[in-house]
Amino acid sequence: MKIICVGRNYVEHIMELNNEFPIDPVIFFKPESSLLKSKNFLHPSFSSEIHHEIELVYEILKKGKDIDKKDAINYISKVGIGIDFTARDIQSHNKKKGLPWGFSKSFDGSAAVSKLISRNKIKDFNAITFLLKKNNILVQKGSSNLMIYKIDFLISYISNFITLEKGDLIFSGTPKGVGKVKIGDKLDGYHENEKILSINIS
Ligand code: MG
Repeated sequence: MKIICVGRNYVEHIMELNNEFPIDPVIFFKPESSLLKSKNFLHPSFSSEIHHEIELVYEILKKGKDIDKKDAINYISKVGIGIDFTARDIQSHNKKKGLPWGFSKSFDGSAAVSKLISRNKIKDFNAITFLLKKNNILVQKGSSNLMIYKIDFLISYISNFITLEKGDLIFSGTPKGVGKVKIGDKLDGYHENEKILSINIS
């Protein structure tokens, strides 16, 4: 399986990092080895600025290529939330030099994924709300209706370039409020009002 991620998909997050607005979706990848396999995120020693980015995550139901936007929703099997852990110091350094983001988003444990919710439990794909609390304080809050590029467009767009396969995950971008985590922090992610993700930074 592969993990396809979207960057710069919420207006206020683009502004908080002083990024340019994208003309096309910003796409990057995480390897399967980046999946966080426990409730403990081990803070890597190579970075002094690991950021949390809470995002809606979509699991792909079946293989598809050149998928029509009108049919794209039928390629989703489940929806959840995830944290795109980012070594912001490494990313910023590479961005300044005009280089790719390197390992800033693909290191081990950098993709935390919640339990996933079956698509038939989702009432409206354009109104999925989610939030992140750090040490019980609300830090990020988003809704799929604030995504610049909605999931049907993204599935169609991505599948023009690469074949989507069953079990692939799409991280769809983070709303504003990204910030640093430190050892001892506790992160809780909510879909609607239900806590479905809980991670300790250790
Ligand atoms: Mg992200």
